[in-house]
Amino acid sequence: MSIGSWFSRFGRKGNDSDPVSMVPCGEVRESGSDYIDGDCEEQVQSQIMQHLGLCTDCDGWLKSLAMTVGLLRETPEIEVPESTMERIRGIQRPE
Ligand SMILES: [Zn+2]
Repeated sequence: MSIGSWFSRFGRKGNDSDPVSMVPCGEVRESGSDYIDGDCEEQVQSQIMQHLGLCTDCDGWLKSLAMTVGLLRETPEIEVPESTMERIRGIQRPE
């Protein structure tokens, strides 16, 4: 997908089809991680919630973001065996 079509899909213009004045997808994506953390202002939080109810694109995007964030937080420190580290180093710098 080209940048141009990405913008026309998620851009700030062209909300003609939306009866309510909805925050643009771009803003939802900018505030996505804050929304998950509950760091948004109350107004923003409810605007995003409203947006998610109407926009399946952002709804799916936010769910996968929330999952990624959740996974990152829940993943405990994994002990990496030295042999694996060696292999990783080998991949980075093949000698
Ligand atoms: Zn959206």
